[in-house]
Amino acid sequence: MAENSSHPEQEIEQLKQRIRQYNHEYYVMDTPSVPDAEYDRLMQRLMALETEHPKLKTSDSPSQKVGGAPLSAFEQVTHEVPMLSLDNAFDDEALLAFEKRIKDRLKESAAIAFSCEPKLDGLAVSLLYEDGELVRAATRGDGQVGENITQNVKTIANIPLRLKGEDIPRRVEIRGEVFMPKAGFEKLNQRQKEQGAKIFANPRNAAAGSLRQLDSKITAKRPLMFYTYSLGLVTPDDFSLPDTHSERLALVASWGMPLCPEVDTATDGNGCLAYYQKILGMRDALAYDIDGVVFKVNSVDRQERLGFVARAPRWAIAQKFPAQEEVTVLEDVEFQV
Ligand code: NAD
Repeated sequence: MAENSSHPEQEIEQLKQRIRQYNHEYYVMDTPSVPDAEYDRLMQRLMALETEHPKLKTSDSPSQKVGGAPLSAFEQVTHEVPMLSLDNAFDDEALLAFEKRIKDRLKESAAIAFSCEPKLDGLAVSLLYEDGELVRAATRGDGQVGENITQNVKTIANIPLRLKGEDIPRRVEIRGEVFMPKAGFEKLNQRQKEQGAKIFANPRNAAAGSLRQLDSKITAKRPLMFYTYSLGLVTPDDFSLPDTHSERLALVASWGMPLCPEVDTATDGNGCLAYYQKILGMRDALAYDIDGVVFKVNSVDRQERLGFVARAPRWAIAQKFPAQEEVTVLEDVEFQV
């Protein structure tokens, strides 16, 4: 597709069509046909054109939307608090520009602290606990409506069926990522190969395909894990929670929820850049795949003042790592429903 097109309207339409098709392949079918880096390039181009020509930006553009429609084979779950995506930074300058935007919007000149977290390459999941018991699990879907995958999630060994502790909210939604550790992925593919079954392209697709099975006995055989990264709905509204995101993660961990050991905090944007380098250096040695790191303004009060745009919070950003695999093996991905 020609860039710097003299027909922006036409280029935008073509980009939207291609991105919609790739979204369907990735989110609905779990069978991407292009590498993530190519998808990201097209999305960046679409966003640049929409910024340059604001009149051509429509609310149905994929740049304004989260994920894909839930599969009709599953019961649908409406998220009481929408599950959004994340904005991306592809280099250090973009990360520092994010920090500056935040300070400008908050009209604060002092350093802003961040929660720093690996960007786990799996599937976003919402877990609802009532009176401490896991009663519902759902995928993100299109951010408003996801798929009910409660039976499948109950087979994941490190997700507690019951929270521990005396002082927990009556209803609490815990969000995080379901993923397949690298070793489990290799073993699964080895087993699939021995059995003449289909080979998975990468741990992300294996996790997504395994979680969105109609038969939870199949999910039970798959080596899935979960790490918590945020709180959704909390009832009652006046339940006393700490003021920072990192303390809230620690609280959720004290209820027995698994937390990624690499989460940390930084006192400012430069601290975030140091964390990025540290995690990038550890990437190959980590037991699970990551495609970047996520920075979140640590103060929940500041998060609330910053709010959201169409598909992502203003108070968080994903700084992506350089692409590792450029080509996704298409025919090797399992078709799960
Ligand atoms: P995203 O992956 O860019 O970021 C949001 C997601 O990050 C969350 O929903 C959550 O699942 C995950 N996440 C992991 N660790 C997290 C943490 N610590 N805190 C918060 N969230 C965390 O979002 P997206 O909208 O799901 O996907 C967009 C990306 O997916 C693209 O940039 C591209 O890489 C890939 N994609 C690829 C294709 C393709 O055809 N190859 C198609 C669609 C999307």
